[in-house]
Amino acid sequence: DVPGMSSPMNIYAWNGAVENPFPERPDMRGASISGDGSETWMVLEIPEDEFTYDAWHRYSVIVHEYWHVFQLGLTRDNADPVWLWEGGAKIAEELYMQQEYGQSEFDSDLFPLVATGLSQPEDFEDYVGGDLDINYNTSAFMVLALAKELQEAQGLSEARAFEVILKDFQAAKLTEPDWKVAFAEIFSMSPEEFYATLDQYPTVASDQDWFEGDVLDVPSLMPSKDLTFTDVLSASAS
Ligand SMILES: [Zn+2]
Repeated sequence: DVPGMSSPMNIYAWNGAVENPFPERPDMRGASISGDGSETWMVLEIPEDEFTYDAWHRYSVIVHEYWHVFQLGLTRDNADPVWLWEGGAKIAEELYMQQEYGQSEFDSDLFPLVATGLSQPEDFEDYVGGDLDINYNTSAFMVLALAKELQEAQGLSEARAFEVILKDFQAAKLTEPDWKVAFAEIFSMSPEEFYATLDQYPTVASDQDWFEGDVLDVPSLMPSKDLTFTDVLSASAS
Protein backbone atom coordinates (compact mmCIF):
# COMPACT_ATOMS: atom_id res chain seq x y z
CA ASP A 1 0.00 0.00 0.00
CA VAL A 2 1.07 3.56 -0.70
CA PRO A 3 -0.22 6.13 1.83
CA GLY A 4 -2.98 8.31 0.41
CA MET A 5 -3.49 6.07 -2.62
CA SER A 6 -6.38 3.72 -3.21
CA SER A 7 -5.36 0.09 -3.29
CA PRO A 8 -5.36 -2.02 -5.36
CA MET A 9 -4.47 0.38 -8.18
CA ASN A 10 -5.65 -0.49 -11.68
CA ILE A 11 -3.16 -0.39 -14.55
CA TYR A 12 -4.53 0.14 -18.05
CA ALA A 13 -1.97 -0.84 -20.68
CA TRP A 14 -2.37 -1.27 -24.42
CA ASN A 15 -0.54 -1.02 -27.72
CA GLY A 16 -1.12 2.44 -29.22
CA ALA A 17 -1.75 0.80 -32.61
CA VAL A 18 -5.33 0.32 -31.41
CA GLU A 19 -7.86 2.69 -29.86
CA ASN A 20 -8.12 2.78 -26.06
CA PRO A 21 -9.85 -0.56 -25.42
CA PHE A 22 -11.22 0.39 -21.98
CA PRO A 23 -14.71 1.93 -22.41
CA GLU A 24 -14.96 2.58 -18.65
CA ARG A 25 -12.16 5.18 -18.95
CA PRO A 26 -12.58 6.73 -22.41
CA ASP A 27 -10.24 9.73 -21.95
CA MET A 28 -7.04 7.83 -21.32
CA ARG A 29 -4.02 8.40 -23.57
CA GLY A 30 -0.23 8.48 -23.24
CA ALA A 31 1.44 7.50 -19.99
CA SER A 32 0.41 8.95 -16.63
CA ILE A 33 -0.91 8.44 -13.15
CA SER A 34 -4.48 9.69 -13.23
CA GLY A 35 -7.15 10.05 -10.59
CA ASP A 36 -10.65 11.27 -9.89
CA GLY A 37 -10.22 12.22 -6.23
CA SER A 38 -11.17 8.83 -4.83
CA GLU A 39 -9.34 6.39 -7.09
CA THR A 40 -5.94 6.50 -8.78
CA TRP A 41 -4.90 4.50 -11.82
CA MET A 42 -1.92 4.08 -14.15
CA VAL A 43 -2.25 4.70 -17.89
CA LEU A 44 0.28 3.04 -20.21
CA GLU A 45 -0.49 3.58 -23.87
CA ILE A 46 2.68 2.10 -25.40
CA PRO A 47 3.44 3.59 -28.84
CA GLU A 48 3.41 0.93 -31.58
CA ASP A 49 6.93 2.00 -32.64
CA GLU A 50 8.31 0.89 -29.28
CA PHE A 51 7.28 -2.68 -30.12
CA THR A 52 8.33 -2.41 -33.77
CA TYR A 53 11.81 -1.11 -32.87
CA ASP A 54 12.18 -3.10 -29.66
CA ALA A 55 12.59 0.12 -27.65
CA TRP A 56 13.73 -0.10 -24.02
CA HIS A 57 11.36 2.74 -23.20
CA ARG A 58 8.40 0.36 -23.21
CA TYR A 59 9.91 -1.10 -20.02
CA SER A 60 11.37 2.03 -18.45
CA VAL A 61 8.07 3.93 -18.72
CA ILE A 62 6.58 1.47 -16.21
CA VAL A 63 9.29 2.36 -13.67
CA HIS A 64 8.78 6.06 -14.39
CA GLU A 65 5.06 5.89 -13.68
CA TYR A 66 5.53 3.67 -10.61
CA TRP A 67 7.98 6.23 -9.27
CA HIS A 68 5.25 8.86 -9.55
CA VAL A 69 2.99 6.63 -7.42
CA PHE A 70 5.73 6.52 -4.77
CA GLN A 71 6.19 10.30 -5.01
CA LEU A 72 2.43 10.84 -4.66
CA GLY A 73 2.43 8.72 -1.51
CA LEU A 74 5.49 10.48 -0.03
CA THR A 75 4.15 13.98 -0.67
CA ARG A 76 0.36 13.43 -0.59
CA ASP A 77 0.35 14.87 -4.11
CA ASN A 78 2.73 17.86 -4.05
CA ALA A 79 4.56 17.74 -7.40
CA ASP A 80 6.50 21.03 -7.11
CA PRO A 81 8.87 21.77 -8.69
CA VAL A 82 8.37 19.86 -11.94
CA TRP A 83 12.09 19.49 -12.67
CA LEU A 84 12.60 17.54 -9.44
CA TRP A 85 9.37 15.53 -9.91
CA GLU A 86 9.84 14.55 -13.55
CA GLY A 87 13.63 14.72 -13.51
CA GLY A 88 13.57 12.49 -10.43
CA ALA A 89 11.30 9.97 -12.17
CA LYS A 90 13.59 10.03 -15.21
CA ILE A 91 16.68 9.38 -13.06
CA ALA A 92 14.83 6.58 -11.23
CA GLU A 93 13.84 4.85 -14.48
CA GLU A 94 17.32 5.09 -16.00
CA LEU A 95 19.05 3.84 -12.82
CA TYR A 96 16.63 0.91 -12.85
CA MET A 97 17.49 0.20 -16.51
CA GLN A 98 21.20 0.43 -15.74
CA GLN A 99 20.78 -2.06 -12.89
CA GLU A 100 18.41 -4.55 -14.52
CA TYR A 101 19.33 -4.35 -18.22
CA GLY A 102 22.94 -3.14 -18.11
CA GLN A 103 22.19 -0.20 -20.36
CA SER A 104 20.43 3.15 -20.07
CA GLU A 105 20.15 6.57 -21.66
CA PHE A 106 23.07 7.63 -19.45
CA ASP A 107 25.21 5.66 -21.94
CA SER A 108 24.37 8.29 -24.58
CA ASP A 109 24.72 11.15 -22.05
CA LEU A 110 20.93 11.75 -22.15
CA PHE A 111 21.20 13.14 -25.68
CA PRO A 112 19.56 15.42 -26.67
CA LEU A 113 19.90 17.70 -23.66
CA VAL A 114 18.23 20.76 -25.12
CA ALA A 115 20.01 23.90 -23.89
CA THR A 116 17.53 26.46 -25.19
CA GLY A 117 15.47 26.88 -22.04
CA LEU A 118 18.26 26.89 -19.51
CA SER A 119 18.89 30.63 -19.51
CA GLN A 120 15.81 30.60 -17.24
CA PRO A 121 16.14 27.43 -15.12
CA GLU A 122 13.20 28.57 -12.95
CA ASP A 123 10.93 27.97 -15.97
CA PHE A 124 11.45 24.24 -15.29
CA GLU A 125 9.60 24.61 -11.99
CA ASP A 126 6.53 24.20 -14.23
CA TYR A 127 5.94 22.07 -17.32
CA VAL A 128 7.79 23.75 -20.21
CA GLY A 129 6.65 21.52 -23.07
CA GLY A 130 8.24 18.61 -24.89
CA ASP A 131 10.40 20.63 -27.28
CA LEU A 132 12.34 22.34 -24.45
CA ASP A 133 12.53 19.25 -22.22
CA ILE A 134 12.65 16.24 -24.57
CA ASN A 135 11.78 13.11 -22.53
CA TYR A 136 12.48 15.24 -19.41
CA ASN A 137 16.17 15.04 -20.25
CA THR A 138 16.80 18.65 -19.26
CA SER A 139 15.00 18.17 -15.94
CA ALA A 140 17.13 15.07 -15.41
CA PHE A 141 20.26 17.11 -16.18
CA MET A 142 19.30 19.53 -13.41
CA VAL A 143 18.93 16.59 -11.00
CA LEU A 144 22.38 15.29 -12.02
CA ALA A 145 23.91 18.74 -11.52
CA LEU A 146 22.29 18.95 -8.07
CA ALA A 147 23.66 15.50 -7.18
CA LYS A 148 27.14 16.71 -8.10
CA GLU A 149 26.75 19.81 -5.92
CA LEU A 150 25.71 17.66 -2.96
CA GLN A 151 28.69 15.36 -3.43
CA GLU A 152 31.17 18.23 -3.76
CA ALA A 153 29.74 20.72 -1.27
CA GLN A 154 28.48 18.31 1.39
CA GLY A 155 30.67 15.27 0.86
CA LEU A 156 27.74 12.92 0.31
CA SER A 157 28.36 9.62 -1.43
CA GLU A 158 26.98 9.38 -4.95
CA ALA A 159 24.23 6.97 -3.86
CA ARG A 160 23.24 9.11 -0.87
CA ALA A 161 23.18 12.29 -2.99
CA PHE A 162 20.60 10.72 -5.31
CA GLU A 163 18.64 9.32 -2.36
CA VAL A 164 18.42 12.77 -0.75
CA ILE A 165 17.09 14.20 -4.02
CA LEU A 166 14.72 11.36 -4.92
CA LYS A 167 13.34 10.59 -1.46
CA ASP A 168 14.29 13.01 1.34
CA PHE A 169 13.34 16.15 -0.56
CA GLN A 170 9.96 14.77 -1.65
CA ALA A 171 9.23 13.51 1.87
CA ALA A 172 10.18 16.89 3.38
CA LYS A 173 7.28 18.57 1.55
CA LEU A 174 4.84 16.65 3.74
CA THR A 175 5.79 18.83 6.73
CA GLU A 176 6.96 21.85 4.72
CA PRO A 177 4.60 22.27 1.74
CA ASP A 178 6.48 25.33 0.40
CA TRP A 179 8.95 23.50 -1.83
CA LYS A 180 11.50 26.37 -1.80
CA VAL A 181 11.72 26.21 1.99
CA ALA A 182 11.98 22.40 1.89
CA PHE A 183 14.69 22.72 -0.79
CA ALA A 184 16.78 25.05 1.35
CA GLU A 185 16.36 22.79 4.41
CA ILE A 186 17.34 19.60 2.61
CA PHE A 187 20.04 20.88 0.24
CA SER A 188 21.50 23.73 2.34
CA MET A 189 21.19 26.16 -0.57
CA SER A 190 18.36 28.11 -2.13
CA PRO A 191 16.96 27.17 -5.54
CA GLU A 192 18.44 30.42 -6.91
CA GLU A 193 21.90 29.53 -5.59
CA PHE A 194 21.60 26.14 -7.27
CA TYR A 195 20.41 27.61 -10.57
CA ALA A 196 23.48 29.88 -10.62
CA THR A 197 25.73 26.79 -10.65
CA LEU A 198 24.26 25.66 -13.99
CA ASP A 199 26.21 28.39 -15.82
CA GLN A 200 29.34 26.23 -15.68
CA TYR A 201 28.05 23.62 -18.15
CA PRO A 202 29.09 24.02 -21.77
CA THR A 203 26.58 24.33 -24.61
CA VAL A 204 27.58 22.95 -28.00
CA ALA A 205 25.93 22.50 -31.39
CA SER A 206 24.41 19.04 -31.79
CA ASP A 207 26.70 16.71 -33.73
CA GLN A 208 23.93 14.25 -34.63
CA ASP A 209 22.02 14.53 -37.89
CA TRP A 210 18.62 13.77 -36.43
CA PHE A 211 18.70 16.62 -33.92
CA GLU A 212 19.42 20.23 -34.75
CA GLY A 213 20.17 22.87 -32.13
CA ASP A 214 22.29 23.60 -29.09
CA VAL A 215 22.69 20.90 -26.49
CA LEU A 216 24.54 20.42 -23.22
CA ASP A 217 27.47 18.03 -23.43
CA VAL A 218 27.99 16.79 -19.88
CA PRO A 219 29.30 13.22 -19.83
CA SER A 220 31.00 13.88 -16.48
CA LEU A 221 27.60 14.33 -14.82
CA MET A 222 26.32 10.87 -15.73
CA PRO A 223 26.02 8.46 -12.78
CA SER A 224 28.74 5.86 -12.31
CA LYS A 225 28.09 2.85 -14.51
CA ASP A 226 28.10 0.53 -11.48
CA LEU A 227 25.66 2.63 -9.43
CA THR A 228 22.42 0.69 -8.97
CA PHE A 229 18.93 1.84 -8.13
CA THR A 230 19.08 -0.44 -5.08
CA ASP A 231 22.24 1.38 -3.90
CA VAL A 232 20.37 4.67 -4.11
CA LEU A 233 17.22 3.47 -2.34
CA SER A 234 19.21 1.98 0.52
CA ALA A 235 22.01 4.56 0.82
CA SER A 236 20.96 5.99 4.19
CA ALA A 237 20.69 2.49 5.62
CA SER A 238 24.23 1.50 4.62
ZN1 LIG B 1 6.39 11.65 -15.45
